[in-house]
Amino acid sequence: MTSKYWTTAGSVNDARPMNSLPQSRHLVGPLPGPRSRELMARKSGAVAAGVGTTMPVFAVRAGGGIVEDVDGNRLIDLGSGIAVTTVGNSAPRVVDAVAAQAGAFTHTCFMVTPYESYVAVAEALNRLTPGDHEKRTALFNSGAEAVENAVKIARSYTGRQAVVAFDHGYHGRTNLTMALTAKNMPYKHGFGPFAPEVYRVPTSYPFRDGKEVDGATAARRALTLVEKQVGAENLAALVIEPIQGEGGFVEPAPGFLPALAEWCRANGVVFVADEVQTGFARTGDLFACDHEGVVPDLIVTAKGIAGGLPLSAVTGRAEIMDAPHAGGLGGTYGGNPIACAAAIAAIATIEEDGLLDRARQIERLMKERLHRLQLDDARVGDVRGRGAMIAVELVKPGTTEPDAALARGVAAAAHRAGVIVLTCGTDGNVLRFLPPLTISDELLTEALDILTEAFAN
Ligand SMILES: *Cc1c(COP(=O)(O)O)cnc(C)c1O
Repeated sequence: MTSKYWTTAGSVNDARPMNSLPQSRHLVGPLPGPRSRELMARKSGAVAAGVGTTMPVFAVRAGGGIVEDVDGNRLIDLGSGIAVTTVGNSAPRVVDAVAAQAGAFTHTCFMVTPYESYVAVAEALNRLTPGDHEKRTALFNSGAEAVENAVKIARSYTGRQAVVAFDHGYHGRTNLTMALTAKNMPYKHGFGPFAPEVYRVPTSYPFRDGKEVDGATAARRALTLVEKQVGAENLAALVIEPIQGEGGFVEPAPGFLPALAEWCRANGVVFVADEVQTGFARTGDLFACDHEGVVPDLIVTAKGIAGGLPLSAVTGRAEIMDAPHAGGLGGTYGGNPIACAAAIAAIATIEEDGLLDRARQIERLMKERLHRLQLDDARVGDVRGRGAMIAVELVKPGTTEPDAALARGVAAAAHRAGVIVLTCGTDGNVLRFLPPLTISDELLTEALDILTEAFAN
């Protein structure tokens, strides 16, 4: 049986035969195969060593829940290109929209002669993001670029400079976002000096905090430091991922985010939700902030926004977004017309194909299996996350002491068996699962079987 969301003939709402990629795992031989090996050798000779790869296989096609490589191997995709192809790779509406737009025009620069699709993406984001206040949106290319712009906008609006970020936070690889990012290796090491006026405070990390630190207590712990060490009157913005991504899929205790948002409101600080990884149905809500009804002043989106095309956005309160002077925001490619066409198609796919429900189904299926694994295996310390953003934190049995070697070992075994999984966490001891919402239950179950076996070995 194929998934409701993906048949070998395309999506349910589109019966045209197109990306006829079989939805089954298939290994021709040991990975990587000969053609991937050849290409890896060329990569080493041509591509900067700093650009790493999780798996040494080169892709040729992808769709549903499968990535096919140059040797004809078909891998189960639990990565979605790091939470990007949430609506599926080569999603039919996205493919059509991109082809049509590329045939019409590829670029004019929105700052030179604008076009409608940029405005339509802004309208969609203003409509879909949390809160029914008046909003404005500006478009950029990458998540990091959008986070930087959110900080620029908050500084311009408040006339203040300081920015607070959190332990285990990840916000990108540009200079300002490296400063916001917590983890040294590999993101920051040797790349300083970093942008000034960035302060880091503890987050809410229920697995490590223990039960006595509830959301309100964790918020107070962070805000006391901010008040003592920065001063609310100097603070432009507080930047937080509502569920941390690279930091380990850390879901804060209930009440943590609302308490931070409320403090920001009371102190004239711009509350910036970085939903680059959590956005666009990934967590079973359109945005992770929706889960507790938190309304950020600015919300940053990217990754899942455009079905694989590079696009990012800052959306927020009109009076904040409109603070910077005309010409103060922008960029050559920001809101590229092909990326905008893709975003409109990706948003339509989420809304029309019921992908929020699909993300919640995936959560139920994965958590049921992973909780069973946890019962049998004391090294699985925590199972957490929401929707199709699920992780297991691996520890020395009975402790919270990280076991990064086990995470590496299980990931490597999964890779050998043809399952794309990623690790994360400040200590590298978290296995994370980010399947496309077009994956079938069968593929998901098979991937979980393989992971379970990897733990047993
Ligand atoms: C990936 C990510 C970014 C950076 O996005 P890029 O497109 O890689 O620049 C920022 N914030 C979060 C939460 C992310 O997951």
